[in-house]
Amino acid sequence: MSNEFVDVLVIGAGPSGCVSSSYLKKNNINVKVVEKTKFPRLVVGESLIPRVMDHFDEAGLLPALHTVGFEKKLGARFLRGNEVCIFDFSDKFGEGWDWTWQVPRSDFDHALAQEVINKGVDLEFETEVIDIKFDGTNSITTVKSKDGEAKEIHAKFVIDSSGYGRVLPRLLDLEKPSKLSPHSAIFSHVKDRNREEGTEGTLISFDIIETEVWLWVIPFSNGNTSLGIVGPTEYIDKLLENKNTAHALKKAISLSDYYIKRFGNVEFLFEPKHLKDYSCSVKSLFGEGFALTGNASEFLDPVFSSGMAFATESGMLAAKLTLRQLNREKIDWQKEYADYILYGVDVFTTYIKEWYTGNLQELFFHQPANEDIKRKICAVLAGYVWNKDNPFVRKHDTVIKNLANLIKLEKQ
Ligand code: FAD
Repeated sequence: MSNEFVDVLVIGAGPSGCVSSSYLKKNNINVKVVEKTKFPRLVVGESLIPRVMDHFDEAGLLPALHTVGFEKKLGARFLRGNEVCIFDFSDKFGEGWDWTWQVPRSDFDHALAQEVINKGVDLEFETEVIDIKFDGTNSITTVKSKDGEAKEIHAKFVIDSSGYGRVLPRLLDLEKPSKLSPHSAIFSHVKDRNREEGTEGTLISFDIIETEVWLWVIPFSNGNTSLGIVGPTEYIDKLLENKNTAHALKKAISLSDYYIKRFGNVEFLFEPKHLKDYSCSVKSLFGEGFALTGNASEFLDPVFSSGMAFATESGMLAAKLTLRQLNREKIDWQKEYADYILYGVDVFTTYIKEWYTGNLQELFFHQPANEDIKRKICAVLAGYVWNKDNPFVRKHDTVIKNLANLIKLEKQ
């Protein structure tokens, strides 16, 4: 078996792995990425939030992304029957980016990975991690190429950015059930032939079908649109009724009074994918010689599009700490990595839970809208969940519940 020697091995070339490997390369670290598939490949997660722009910028990946021409996302619209709530990222509380993109991930991730290669990172596609052995912080990872050939990669540190592959959580028995109740989704892309001119046609929207069930509509600049239905697993299973996913997604679209006309008769561009019980968690975000980032660590829920922001936040932070460790600094991974990341996870967990209880929906659709409250919630939806100047971050565990109770009292 052949051997390779690197400073850092990154598993997976999704957004998390691209951000960390690009940052490490920029800092002259000998980094290698192994990616199981060949890009472009299909993956879900098409609505970005502004916080990701900070990370792509710092990793030096933004200029390349700009040239592709993805659809700009300036905010998000939530619909409930005739009620409408629009968040505009430029109105948010505090500092930060006020726009991002909505993207077909196959193209987006392909562009990211190509740019990482352009920057000189050794990125090997169709190479799958099948085993790993640690000796202190040093490790030997066994990878298998598409021809079945195995080799060993010796590294001083491993960043596991394998997303739903969850390589180290599986190999090291780190899997843990999510705190969130089981939800599932079905999604596909369509040729958006009935798209309206102007903002209406390109606006990213979330249409509430029932309190816990919502439809996503994510228009892309290539003329296609992503459609997905999300709900409790029991609900999605019933929608499927042992029939195919296309039947279920068509049925879901027919439940949207707002979108039935635009999407009632469209053909799916691929057999809709069913993602069952998608939330996941881990016992620890790090160990001696490795860190878990992005979906290889924790995935909550798609409702506020937090997945990619956590993927890039954790990818960037893991890379920075790894660099310092390689420079012989002692790193407190619990305090500097896990505690920090989990603070943001906790904030979003509250918002997601309060979305599904209906409390957050009360706040979103309350009339007249309180613009100050909206601005502070908007900053959370933009991904600035570590800004403790924002009371809607700092007091996340009480503020939504309390305000929703006041609204309910007012209605009585
Ligand atoms: P990925 O993008 O999954 O990349 C991981 C890579 O690792 C893959 O390319 C994979 O091939 C590779 N890999 C796996 N196993 C191995 C192995 N053994 N060896 C080598 N390589 C391997 N997030 C958002 O921000 N916005 C959204 O709108 C959104 N919608 C979602 C909807 C649903 C229904 C779900 C379930 C999730 C959604 N997400 C969304 C979450 C989003 O998909 C993820 O958070 C994001 O893709 C995580 O990026 P990543 O880089 O961690 O992993």
